[in-house]
Amino acid sequence: AALFESFSERLQKAMSFIDRGRLTEATVREGMKQVRQALLEADVAYDVARDFTKRVSEQAVGDRVLKSLKPSEQIVGIVYRELVALMGGDPDSEFQPSSVAAQIGVKRDGVTVLMMCGLQGAGKTTTCGKLARALKKDGFAPLLVAADLQRPAAIEQLKTLGEQVGVPVYTEDPANSTPVKVCQNGVKEAQRRGDVRVVILDTAGRLGVDEDLMRELSAIDRKVGPDAAFLVADAMTGQDAVNSAKAFNEALELDGVVLTKMDGDTRGGAALSIKAVTGVPLKFVGTGETLDGLEAFHPDRMAGRILGGGDMATLLEKAQREFDADEMAEQQARMAEGKFTLLDFQKAMRQIGKLGSMRSVMKMIPGMGQLAELDPEADMDREVGRVNAMIGSMTQEERLNPDRIDRSRRNRIASGAGVQPHEVHKLLKDFKGMSGMMQNMAGLGMRDRMAAVKG
Ligand code: GDP
Repeated sequence: AALFESFSERLQKAMSFIDRGRLTEATVREGMKQVRQALLEADVAYDVARDFTKRVSEQAVGDRVLKSLKPSEQIVGIVYRELVALMGGDPDSEFQPSSVAAQIGVKRDGVTVLMMCGLQGAGKTTTCGKLARALKKDGFAPLLVAADLQRPAAIEQLKTLGEQVGVPVYTEDPANSTPVKVCQNGVKEAQRRGDVRVVILDTAGRLGVDEDLMRELSAIDRKVGPDAAFLVADAMTGQDAVNSAKAFNEALELDGVVLTKMDGDTRGGAALSIKAVTGVPLKFVGTGETLDGLEAFHPDRMAGRILGGGDMATLLEKAQREFDADEMAEQQARMAEGKFTLLDFQKAMRQIGKLGSMRSVMKMIPGMGQLAELDPEADMDREVGRVNAMIGSMTQEERLNPDRIDRSRRNRIASGAGVQPHEVHKLLKDFKGMSGMMQNMAGLGMRDRMAAVKG
């Protein structure tokens, strides 16, 4: 499932309810009721949902909005801003490029120590591996420290992860050491190595929040003095994740939370409300069992995705990390100039195909979200194959000037690609929609983009 899938659907439904010819106060009130319902069904705490809709309503009803030229757009804008604020972002901040090091708060120089804690099974050790992988990729050499002396297999698990991502792991014999000692010596080892930029301490978990655990973690916090402490919590546990964040924050003063298993059957409530309830920002979300299943969490981007505006920024950054930077830069420039052709479309499709699950990636593209939804059983890779075949059957002239494709050309392309003529027609329509939207989006800030999508 895509992040916040059903919440996103419900919220968009509420927004389209408001998006009517003549907007009255009663319509807005009914729409806000739907918004509150969407939040509650996403498992957001009652108080948080009530405060949210109250804030939106206060701004939305009243002459300034209702008598404005496009009141429903203004209301979507208000919801967007409040959603960003709810998740801990600043709707007025400039667009920030995403970086793992920035999310962690890696210092300009020297060694940054990051302490990772969480309950057993939350995904802490896995997340340590994911962070190490991402940091290494970005050129910040990490060192993993196996300070979970509680769970017998934890040290071996971290060693295996370290091997997988090619990152050194510092360990000690649990029989002759303590968690504090392992962490202290691990930091020393990082300083001795010289090239290490981030030390990741994988501390012990317990089945529940208990005094023993908090004592152990507080001791590490005091004696090792990490630069940042992150809690790893399982998003599937909903409000329990929020409550454990509260408890850990009281003992440790957390700098961030990582919510794992966001790819699972979570309703998203924890991610929506953890900042509002605990004051601790959500820094990353875990989106899969494999080591690339980690995403930096940016409230503004996420709010855009939830409201259906797509998140081109994340998509392009993801693509850039995985692909030829020059080619991507060229494509972005072409988009910005409005010169996005069918050939670029084909290239983009091919690259998107390489990015993994088509469906989840397509959801990030404005206008493509619904396409991904159309037929849940459709095999996206096969779809990409058909698109390739159709574009492959066109002449170069047709690819560059799709407007010239008339009925007879359409039939020729269809038979060349082994598809029905109406499929060629649909491809051209999708492409037109996409390139038009890209033209509008490129170069605009998130807020403008939201407006562009809705307008
Ligand atoms: P720890 O006890 O907190 O160290 O938990 P582990 O790192 O051993 O993870 C517990 C289980 O959760 C393992 O099966 C992981 O593969 C799984 N897991 C961790 N993060 C994610 C995630 O983001 N998505 C999914 N689907 N599974 C995850």
